[in-house]
Amino acid sequence: MNNKFRVLVVDLSSKKSKVEFYDTRKKWLGGSGLAAGLFEKYANFDNDPFHPDQPIIFAIGPLTGMFPLMSKTIMSFMSPYNGQYAESHGGGRSALALRFAGYDALVITGRAEKLTCLGFGAREINIQDVHYLKGMDIFKTGKILRNLKPKNPGHRSILRIGQAGENLISYACVNVDTFRHFGRMGGGAAMGAKNLKGIIISGDSTYDLNKDTIKEYNKVYKDIYKIITESDAVRKYHDLGTPENLIPLNELKALPWRNLQSTHDPDIGSISGEKFAEELLLRQVACAGCPVGCIHIGLLRERFGEDHEYLYRQVSYDYEPIFGVGSMLGVTSSSGVLTLLEDVEKLGLDAISAGVALAWATEALEKKVITAEQTMADLKFGDVQSYRTALKNLAEQSNEFYRFLGRGALVAAETYGGEDFACVLGQEMAGYATGENYFVSQALGFRHSHLDTGAYSFDQEEQAKDIEKSIKYMQDQEYYRILMCSMAGCLFGRKAYPKENILRALNSLGYDYSQQDLDDSVKDIQAHRWAIKFRTGFKPEEVKIPKRFLEVETWKGKTDSDYLFKLKKEYQKILRDIAEKHKFADEEEKSEPER
Ligand code: SF4
Repeated sequence: MNNKFRVLVVDLSSKKSKVEFYDTRKKWLGGSGLAAGLFEKYANFDNDPFHPDQPIIFAIGPLTGMFPLMSKTIMSFMSPYNGQYAESHGGGRSALALRFAGYDALVITGRAEKLTCLGFGAREINIQDVHYLKGMDIFKTGKILRNLKPKNPGHRSILRIGQAGENLISYACVNVDTFRHFGRMGGGAAMGAKNLKGIIISGDSTYDLNKDTIKEYNKVYKDIYKIITESDAVRKYHDLGTPENLIPLNELKALPWRNLQSTHDPDIGSISGEKFAEELLLRQVACAGCPVGCIHIGLLRERFGEDHEYLYRQVSYDYEPIFGVGSMLGVTSSSGVLTLLEDVEKLGLDAISAGVALAWATEALEKKVITAEQTMADLKFGDVQSYRTALKNLAEQSNEFYRFLGRGALVAAETYGGEDFACVLGQEMAGYATGENYFVSQALGFRHSHLDTGAYSFDQEEQAKDIEKSIKYMQDQEYYRILMCSMAGCLFGRKAYPKENILRALNSLGYDYSQQDLDDSVKDIQAHRWAIKFRTGFKPEEVKIPKRFLEVETWKGKTDSDYLFKLKKEYQKILRDIAEKHKFADEEEKSEPER
């Protein structure tokens, strides 16, 4: 196997950095696998997520910058949300900038004394004091960081956190290049704990292709590009984008509304993908190296003067954020949704978790589990203004209630009551009330994400309640998704990248993997990631599936709780078996006989 992984390691406490090389391409592949390998090496397993020792890792894959849609960066860290190993995937220009800075991964350890911005490229690294950015929102921060390096050549990516990250909210996100995010599991708080306000990656170098395989590379590239641009495989992502799913899921009775009190609403037309496209869509943009352009930017107008004077701003929207601050909060106006999305963006919150947490708070207030004095706003489903006030209080951590809510809806519910209707499956639910298979999949998923196994599709395809079939589906999907995420590829590119095409692409760059090599590596990475998650405290038996998920009417009727808990029990066992296959280096040392 050719070249070694090149990893930049920066310690914010000592302000020192070094470049490390790892000869582990065959074992770690890249992306998810590389991130797990580096996490095991750098993590302090005996301490909490906010300990300065804990690393934050950003890793790209072997195909990054070489093939279309290979545009993601894998961020891994010990999650402030649950204390466990977590991954969050972001796009924008981050992956390409890392590639052209000459690194496969960045590891950040330590804690800066003052609020700091880390900047680096192929030829320089600097750690700048940016204490004057304290409390500043995502957009203003981006503007100032861009001006710190006005003449920066090549590809540049700017990552930053807002107030939510600085205040260590468990679901603070990291904004990437304004319209993309490392959204879930609290990466923003992991950066906040390091006093790290921003990262500027300058892709200011070049990257050589393997001359021996260039002909084959051109051929494989063309084949893959053709699938993407000439077939319908990814067309829907460009047209209406992911919001295309709002009407079908609502019709299916699978779209969560008003804290999952229902799964269907006749007002869907006012927040559908079609409505956004017809009335608010300005343009579609893309992550660097992607011909799809699924990122939809809407126009938000705000009247500020008597004489029809308006401020206008550009806000990105997607299916999940529309579900989070739209249907889940009963907001049925597209401009109302965009208003809330802009607030969420500015403050640096994850739109899904923030929306679901406020949905719980709204129902808790209705049921008098909490008071309006605690929420500091008269929260009502559909009331945009009350949610704007609540989001600000949440990000500012204005009182004890918001401090608990900032640790997640379930933590707040365990404190005040109302656990039964906290829509949390490992973390706040994604927008799929498709049935038992999905509920179990998110609750036990590695990232607690709808993307771990895609079981929402299985729910829609399969009526029969078949535990064996369900587990096989989830395992097959997890296998493929680990492979794709070890390439750091966008999962919207699944149809263009069956396993065979991933292998062809790797070979065309001179990486001499066989199909068997890839299979073996993915199995190892799967065991490795799960083993780290277990070692950092994951106990699947203790993951709750609140009563609301058992009461909800999905398209299949009422949840079959008997089937759901049997499936959960079986899946738990399988995950433990997978994790046990990995042996940690420090455990192997301990088990070696004394000489
Ligand atoms: S399909 Fe969308 S999210 Fe995926 S790489 Fe392209 S622009 Fe980014």
